[in-house]
Order: sequence, then C-alpha cells, then structure tokens
Amino acid sequence: MSRVLFWILLVGLVVLAVRAKLKALGARRQPPVQPPPRSEAPAAAIENMAQCAHCGLHFPASEAVHADGHDYCSPGHARLPPR
Ligand SMILES: [Zn+2]
Repeated sequence: MSRVLFWILLVGLVVLAVRAKLKALGARRQPPVQPPPRSEAPAAAIENMAQCAHCGLHFPASEAVHADGHDYCSPGHARLPPR
C-alpha cells in the first residue's frame, strides 16, 4: 500500500514540476509590457491670443476684457485710451 502512495506522490510532484516549468517558460516568452504611447496635447489646449489695445501685451483671448471694440489685458487698461 505504501508503494502505491509513493508512486501517486511521485507522479503528483512530477506533474506540479512540469506545470511550473511550462508556466515559467510561457511568462518568459511574453513580450515586455510597454508603456502606453504619449498622446499629443489635445487641440483644445491651444488657445488664440489677443493683444492689449493699450499696452500691446499678448495674452489668451479668453482672458481679454472687451471694451469699445478693442481687447484689453485688464479692466484698468480698458478704462485707459487705446494707443
Ligand atoms: Zn494692457
């Protein structure tokens, strides 16, 4: 009876060893994980620029202060006359 247990254990160990070896070989063959490619900056990040009618400073158009048909960099310059 002990011989039967010995052979069952031996076959089980061999099966486990072969499985572990195959798993290690399979993991080695997989290509290395590559980082995702960097995506370009979205087009929405590019913003139009405006020029202050008083001081000539260029700034994002979304921050412009509009007064009498001109763009200004700040409310203070909007009160001053354009150059
Ligand atoms: Zn200005």
